[in-house]
Amino acid sequence: MSENQQWITRSKKVFIGTYNRFPATMVKGEGCRLWDADGKEYLDFLSGIAVCSLGHCHPQVTEAIRKQAGELVHVSNLFHTKPQIELAELLTENSFADKVFLANSGAEANEAAIKLARIHSGPGRYEIISLSGSFHGRTLATIAATGQPKFHEGFEPLPTGFVHAEFDNIQAIENLINASTCAIFCEPLQGESGVRPLSKEYLKAIKALCDKHNLLLIFDEVQTGIGRTGTLFAYEQLGVTPDIMTSAKALGNGLPIGAMLTTDIIAKALVPGTHASTFGGNPVAAAGGVAVLKTLLGDGFLESIQEKSIYFIQKLETLAEKFPTLAQGVRGKGLLLGLVLTDRGIEHGMAIVQNLFEKGILINFAGNKVLRFIPPLIVSHEEIDNLIGKLTDTLESFAV
Ligand SMILES: *Cc1c(COP(=O)(O)O)cnc(C)c1O
Repeated sequence: MSENQQWITRSKKVFIGTYNRFPATMVKGEGCRLWDADGKEYLDFLSGIAVCSLGHCHPQVTEAIRKQAGELVHVSNLFHTKPQIELAELLTENSFADKVFLANSGAEANEAAIKLARIHSGPGRYEIISLSGSFHGRTLATIAATGQPKFHEGFEPLPTGFVHAEFDNIQAIENLINASTCAIFCEPLQGESGVRPLSKEYLKAIKALCDKHNLLLIFDEVQTGIGRTGTLFAYEQLGVTPDIMTSAKALGNGLPIGAMLTTDIIAKALVPGTHASTFGGNPVAAAGGVAVLKTLLGDGFLESIQEKSIYFIQKLETLAEKFPTLAQGVRGKGLLLGLVLTDRGIEHGMAIVQNLFEKGILINFAGNKVLRFIPPLIVSHEEIDNLIGKLTDTLESFAV
């Protein structure tokens, strides 16, 4: 049995079966590449699900972690620490927000947003409208906010105060607004359910509904933020500014950290004792986050994403034209892109991902509809070409 296989056998023995994992025990990463325990190399177009956006073991991030780990690892939020102050400053200086709460994950950042929306809105105003197809996390409140029944099944009763409106139907949202509504909660681009962007018109109409009914607009930018769509946050390209926004995933380039951001006025509702986290803003994770933001905000970095995006989209569109029985188009923004499959393509979706895995290319099948590409933002044209070459071979074998 190979070393890789031995680890997999041990893993299956001890873990609760919540994950359907690829048969690889990863041991090393560098840039856009990963290696498993047998030394097999992979080209990573998943980035740990939009997390390692600067690539694996980015030198500046690794150095920041090393340095901080040698100085101070944890003191709790009973004290101030330098890295978390620097991180919050970078986040507020580079977004609409004035104030930050630091958590450890996307779901936790969203929980904080939900609590803030409720406490800010006052007694009797608690209901949150989110969208069908959305994904907001795996805690009970965030699955309740998630507009996909498959995440609810078996876990009922769910926390109350969450309703879902049909995607891209503004009237459906308005119909759900009542005296207890406090917020509209959405991703600017739905990642998990198949790389589905919300149009500018739709987002503007959502914002107008919030203004008209005095509701908070909450953007879940856990997947779309931190440069993924070509600007630090996706909302910057959409002409709509939220009242509350959440971030996580790429914020720590692999360290567990999340953030909930808002304005001074709204932030006032959370006072000592109302919300907290033992690890939130942990110095090591925060030091990683500071290095991530400084790198992303450095000269030319964000601009390079747009340029690569255009290149990548064009290649994917050519593929879609070449294999019309399998693919029907390309969607997404920046380097969060999806090749939308036809019904016939969908039947083969998992097998296509599996076939690419065997060829040493990592992608996934989002929402059972779309081949999703989320490479590290440092991806090169050669690496994009490499993926396209292998994907062409794979699609050829499924098109016959
Ligand atoms: C991944 C994701 C989450 C959940 O983040 P966790 O860190 O896994 O809790 C929430 N919202 C969106 C849009 C996501 O993509």
